[in-house]
Amino acid sequence: MNLPESTEQVVSVAVAAPLYRFFDYRLPASMRAVEGCRVLVPFGRGRRIGFIVPRPAGVAPYRQGLKAVIEVVDDSPLFDSVMLELLAWAADYYQHPLGEVLESALPGRLRRRLAEPAPVRSYRLCSPLDNVLDALPHKATRQRLVARQLFLAGRGGLDGSALRRELGDCSDALKRLVDRGLVESGHFHVSSPTPGPPLNDRQRAAVEAIDDAHEGFASFLLRGVTGSGKTEVYLECARRAIERRSQVLVLVPEIALTPQLVTRFRERLARPVAVMHSGLSDGERQRAWTSAARGDADVVLGTRSAVFAQLARPGLVIVDEEHDASFKQQEGFRYHARDVAIKRAALHRVPIVLGSATPSLESYENARRGRYVALELPERAGAAAMPAVNLVDTSAMTLEDGLSAPLLGAIAERIERNEQSLIFVNRRGYAPVVMCGSCGWQAHCTRCDALLTLHRGEGRLRCHHCGHARAAIEACPACGNKDIFFAGVGTQRVEKALARRFPTARILRIDRDTSTARGALEAALERVREGAVDILVGTQLLSKGHDFPGITLVGVLNGDQGMYSIDFRAPERLFQLVTQVGGRAGRADKPGLVLMQTRFTDHPCMDAIRRHDFETFARAELATRRALGLPPFGHLVLLRAESTAAGAALEFLRRVRALGVEPGTTIGVEVMDPVPAPMERRAGRHRAQLMIQCGRRAPLRRFLHQLVRTIEADNAARRVRWSVDVDPVDLY
Ligand code: ADP
Ligand code: ZN
Ligand code: ZN
Repeated sequence: MNLPESTEQVVSVAVAAPLYRFFDYRLPASMRAVEGCRVLVPFGRGRRIGFIVPRPAGVAPYRQGLKAVIEVVDDSPLFDSVMLELLAWAADYYQHPLGEVLESALPGRLRRRLAEPAPVRSYRLCSPLDNVLDALPHKATRQRLVARQLFLAGRGGLDGSALRRELGDCSDALKRLVDRGLVESGHFHVSSPTPGPPLNDRQRAAVEAIDDAHEGFASFLLRGVTGSGKTEVYLECARRAIERRSQVLVLVPEIALTPQLVTRFRERLARPVAVMHSGLSDGERQRAWTSAARGDADVVLGTRSAVFAQLARPGLVIVDEEHDASFKQQEGFRYHARDVAIKRAALHRVPIVLGSATPSLESYENARRGRYVALELPERAGAAAMPAVNLVDTSAMTLEDGLSAPLLGAIAERIERNEQSLIFVNRRGYAPVVMCGSCGWQAHCTRCDALLTLHRGEGRLRCHHCGHARAAIEACPACGNKDIFFAGVGTQRVEKALARRFPTARILRIDRDTSTARGALEAALERVREGAVDILVGTQLLSKGHDFPGITLVGVLNGDQGMYSIDFRAPERLFQLVTQVGGRAGRADKPGLVLMQTRFTDHPCMDAIRRHDFETFARAELATRRALGLPPFGHLVLLRAESTAAGAALEFLRRVRALGVEPGTTIGVEVMDPVPAPMERRAGRHRAQLMIQCGRRAPLRRFLHQLVRTIEADNAARRVRWSVDVDPVDLY
């Protein structure tokens, strides 16, 4: 029997596809579904998964001739009304199709049902780490590594898959450790909280301010140098929130680099912590998502995408290292997790804490204007002092494979005193320029507008942008000359130069080439901690997360990279880098020294960097940005296009500019001329971009809203790949 049409509901569906509009479907009376549920619908000639979403205001549902929903996927909504509102806001703010936004907010592959969390077998040490290490033969490197990893995991232990993720397959080592009686397996619960150190006055003031605000929305900017005790403030605020039966959402840039943080939350609070990051298997991700959504986990600690985790009883949001660029998604749905987190806290009406040693200038300005409450921890909590930062002016110096005489001298002193040095190089490989000494020919990538980097060990030239590689050359392909030379320095070259200079020193290089295998990075860091390394050479990979108390000298080779480039954030990044690396090195009895090589010693921000003077630095940078209408005083949007056909992307953007600039929509919105991207060709595609600038959000949003829909309706758009990047952090 057919039911009359009128008893059927009509639902609005956002299809998981790059389409900005919604589609109406009939929901047969036999089916039950509400907003936030997924449905399978006929679409074009096929079928698609879509989400039932609130109908846009002012649009009446159609009744006639609609196709029907084929199947309802979820019995209950995946997102509650606040999350739906947040995701709709994000889709609008970042000008990304809602269906894709909803899909990307879900954990892993789409599953039929949320998983029941199953208890997982874990491993933990039976005695203190030192005793375990003493009981092991010196050659048992794998077992030592596993032991240290389990030590980091604390009394809650670590399950097999997490261990494998950190160290690769280590079942043999694990079995030996269990056989030796050094490791036990089972289901461990941390039942009693470990007390933390008594807070100092500044920390207590910060905690009270945040705690007092728990009944509504408020933003706090907690600024404190590395080691000033910010994490202790988070922990105490979290403890109090949990006591009120609230869940705490903690966002961090990268969990792989800070496993201790998870342990610290688990041990200190003795409450379930759900961990979310991109390294998880689908099953693990599903479990974490479910325990957050059902309220089983009191703390949800994760990277960028955890900002979309459904929570049963949200009460506090914390964003650690809020300045970190990895909070911005760089492809597809290009959201900034910190900014989404702020919106989320506002919708939940709960406080949010942004913490950093070097806040983004956006957040700093918000605090200065009183939109955020500024909290400060001006001193290091323990006894360790901030390292001295000395500039080495390389503008009139000859460098030996990138190394200056003062830096070499300082390294020699460290070797003499049996201390460790860390040398930062911003490129991997041997040399970034391969050139003919006779005709000036240079080795270019065939698919990118970029030079190939020589990788010496494997004898190959590699493109760092598209992965293209070819054999190293013996003679110039243009003139046959055999006098090929290599300019610029990469990590391999520095490693070689140091080995020549200090033949007896133990040198270790760490970059993406050395740490591709699972556990390789951990194994390398283990050697540094054991004191088996005198000089550590590495890339930015080393600047985050790790503490190196035995390292007393940090050398920064190219402390001026990009200082005068189109990237207006270069000085800000340099300040962050120096603070970050300086904060990792040295300890109370042996303070660290940072030697930064730069050609721009009189750049206005260098002096502030040298003195760790964030205030002066921020004021000067903000004055420049204000004068140029750059963030936070103006807002930027980058419209990008790319195509395999030369000129097509640029042509498309010219057309968009003509289409988009209509009277009435553009008040205050400035649309620049389209230009080729700084790297015009990449991986065989020609790229162009168009910058849009506006002093105010509202007109910018109206303009973009209309712009993307105009583009979507335009046939020319099908011939190129295009994307919108609102608040870009990377202008390339
Ligand atoms: P941050 O998060 O700012 O880098 P942490 O909270 O990790 O700083 O603190 C750095 C170190 O100082 C940790 O070992 C921590 O236990 C210790 N610490 C923090 N606050 C205090 C305090 N009030 N008294 C003693 N030690 C503290
Ligand atoms: Zn030549
Ligand atoms: Zn390339």
